[in-house]
Amino acid sequence: MEKDCLFCKIAHGEASTEFLYENERLVVFKDIKPHAPIHLLIVPKEHIRSINDLTEANRGIISEMIMIAKEMAKKMSVSESGYKLLFNVESGGGQAIFHLHLHLMGGWKR
Ligand code: AMP
Ligand code: ZN
Repeated sequence: MEKDCLFCKIAHGEASTEFLYENERLVVFKDIKPHAPIHLLIVPKEHIRSINDLTEANRGIISEMIMIAKEMAKKMSVSESGYKLLFNVESGGGQAIFHLHLHLMGGWKR
């Protein structure tokens, strides 16, 4: 756990954030400032700064994040209509919180 990292605090239950899903390795919660009718964040408990910092040892968590995103899309009823999965990488890529997270966005009216 990284000192002063908001998503470390949230992922370890040290904030009042409600989880839509949790297991030993990751948590899922709603984005506080949604950019879509459904906007969730899939966040590993381990502190990894960004996609740039992934190592071979992180293959498991990154694939699990995508599998959980697929399951959460189904749970939130956006599988059929469709959704976006997004990693912002570093400041130039729009990353504001430097703890790895996958955005799941969907639910727009077609
Ligand atoms: P990024 O720009 O990829 O780093 O995305 C960070 C996201 O975290 C933004 O969409 C924020 O709205 C969201 N966010 C920031 N603080 C919180 C929080 N306390 N709870 C939930 N989402 C948050
Ligand atoms: Zn962190």
